[in-house]
Amino acid sequence: MSKVYVCRNWFPDVLDGLAQVHEMRVWWGDDGPPQDVLLAEVRGIGGLIPVGNPIGAEVMNAAPELRVISNFGDGCDHIDVAEATRRGIPVGHTPDVLTETTADLVFTLLLAAARRIVEGDAFARQGKWRTHAHLDLPGVDVNHATLGIVGLGKIGMQVAKRAKGFDMRVLYYGRTRKVNMESLLGVEYVADLHSLLSQSDFISLNTPLTDQTRHMIGADEFAVMKPTAILINAARGSIVDQKALYEALKSHRILRAAIDVTETEPIPPDDPLLTLDSLTIVPHIGSAVPATRKKMMAMAVDQLIAGLRGDRIPHCINPSVYGKNPAA
Ligand code: NAP
Repeated sequence: MSKVYVCRNWFPDVLDGLAQVHEMRVWWGDDGPPQDVLLAEVRGIGGLIPVGNPIGAEVMNAAPELRVISNFGDGCDHIDVAEATRRGIPVGHTPDVLTETTADLVFTLLLAAARRIVEGDAFARQGKWRTHAHLDLPGVDVNHATLGIVGLGKIGMQVAKRAKGFDMRVLYYGRTRKVNMESLLGVEYVADLHSLLSQSDFISLNTPLTDQTRHMIGADEFAVMKPTAILINAARGSIVDQKALYEALKSHRILRAAIDVTETEPIPPDDPLLTLDSLTIVPHIGSAVPATRKKMMAMAVDQLIAGLRGDRIPHCINPSVYGKNPAA
């Protein structure tokens, strides 16, 4: 039996399974534990389930017996994976179970921005509704428009499938060409990011946040987009240079953006982006469907138990900790 710490009290029935085999403590607040609480709680633990909390050397130093980090969530950019790897700590994550839920949110953002759903809702409630005043909130067609997907991974492919239901032309850019997917999904590979950006009516970012993708979309990229382009980001905020996004929207360089993620989360209430009507923003709700989140927690718990038992974690993002044979 090991001491384990879970950074949220979500799905107690799932966490019960962990409490039965390990000495579990959980953070009871709706937001994550403050850093000083986290540093105190991780003392002596063998396993940790973070939920978006930054986990770096400071936390790992405070937990010298830490043997497994099992992240609740897909992206692990808040975890210093290199540091964990250096210490031989496997880091698990929860992909797959949230793929379709997140792709639904991407498409919700795309449709909402195209047809100005959030502005329309406010308009109707504020008594501004005029009969058949179709020029009050002019939208743009999604059907038959061109969608450019940056990163045709699990979520990007599901976004492509949804786009095909709207008869969209779908282009993709990525570090790996997916020839099989091109015929299966009816998508076209574009070898150059700027070329994809310049052809697309809608752009969906679906890469992880890494050193290579940080600020992948900045002033130079906005400069090549169509003035009618709509940018969707439900991946990670820092893939976009947020100051450049503000300038692009403010100067009408692009038409609109719809985002689930920001460089700092939660976004500070005085952030200038929040002053723009051309921005639709939601608070990182990509996977926020309870059934999906429950599957994520179950996966995080199962992987923590497996890792503490000494088994290989099924969804490990630093398999090199298992030695030279990654399949071992
Ligand atoms: P995935 O299956 O790993 O797909 C990521 C894709 O991005 C892959 O096709 C990958 O190429 C490509 N890529 C990686 N680095 C690139 C680069 N430098 N340039 C171009 N393409 C690059 O991941 P996923 O499950 O689709 O998830 C993607 C990201 O979405 C996650 O990492 C996470 O940060 C975010 N996410 C957000 C939410 C939310 O709540 N908003 C929910 C889930 C996930 P390869 O094929 O070569 O690997």
